[in-house]
Amino acid sequence: MQVVDMHCDTVVSIMNKRNNGETIGLKENPLNIDLTKMKKGNYLLQNFAIFTPFGKVESPEHHALQGIDMFYQLMEENQDLIKPVFSYKDIQTNIQNNTMSALLTLEEGGVVFNDLAVLRDYYRLGVRMICLTWNYANGIGHPNFTPGDDSRSDMLHTTNTVDGLTTFGKEYVKEMERLGIIVDVSHLGDKGFWDVVDITTKPFVASHSNARAICSVARNLTDDMIRALYQKGGVMGINFCHDFLSDDGNGTIAMMVKHIDHIKEVAGIEVIGMGTDFDGIAPRKELEDASKMPLLCTALHDAGYTGEQIDLIMGGNVLRVYKEVLK
Ligand SMILES: [Zn+2]
Repeated sequence: MQVVDMHCDTVVSIMNKRNNGETIGLKENPLNIDLTKMKKGNYLLQNFAIFTPFGKVESPEHHALQGIDMFYQLMEENQDLIKPVFSYKDIQTNIQNNTMSALLTLEEGGVVFNDLAVLRDYYRLGVRMICLTWNYANGIGHPNFTPGDDSRSDMLHTTNTVDGLTTFGKEYVKEMERLGIIVDVSHLGDKGFWDVVDITTKPFVASHSNARAICSVARNLTDDMIRALYQKGGVMGINFCHDFLSDDGNGTIAMMVKHIDHIKEVAGIEVIGMGTDFDGIAPRKELEDASKMPLLCTALHDAGYTGEQIDLIMGGNVLRVYKEVLK
């Protein structure tokens, strides 16, 4: 098995630490993800998200551009071990050269001054997947909940079935498809999800979301959503966050397998991938960093999954989507 992980927050974590004067890099660090841990965990490709806390930074666009610069600084510092990829062919080349791959993503599509020209500029800067929203309405669409919104009694369990994609949001999604940027619906509200189903012509992803039938938080997908995603040829990444794995906050490896079992039952193996959320979530008890990914493979094997099925879940399904959408 080789791991393809659709989501982590490692680059912005490193950027924040460097801004605080700490000496930290990507090769070896105390975070959940570094290149040494990735090697040990048998990684083929890691998506590195530039997470921009819309509403908390003065200029979200400036923050995103600084994050992208940090991504390329880290790539330059470690070019013997990992290389950025912009196409499916680049991934193949890295495999041949025994080099790990890094795909640049945005976890906040609103960093574009409401202008598709800026979206195209992000493509030119190498961005190949974008979460349409994070936890704020952003001119593109609406999340299921907004932190600090006191009018909502239970943020984690509040779904938004009213506010979907804006007119601009729909144009944004169509332009992403035209360019070859993968649409990511994690964090998007339920109405927005169904708008994406309606208007997309290519597979899309929920990069870091689990099954709502197993853990009821609004960040996870309902069975109907999972089936729709499957029918679109898309894939969802299993998120290792305790709160998204289990309603009692007990995010064990057994719970990961439970989500995978359920998603397989509802739609099929082909819709399952990895979206760890490493370095964006609280430390896990059993699978605390990238080097430990083989533990999940062992658990899947023990649960009766074949080697071929485990390969698809750990990376093969996501690569299928990359092959189809990236140019
Ligand atoms: Zn997230």
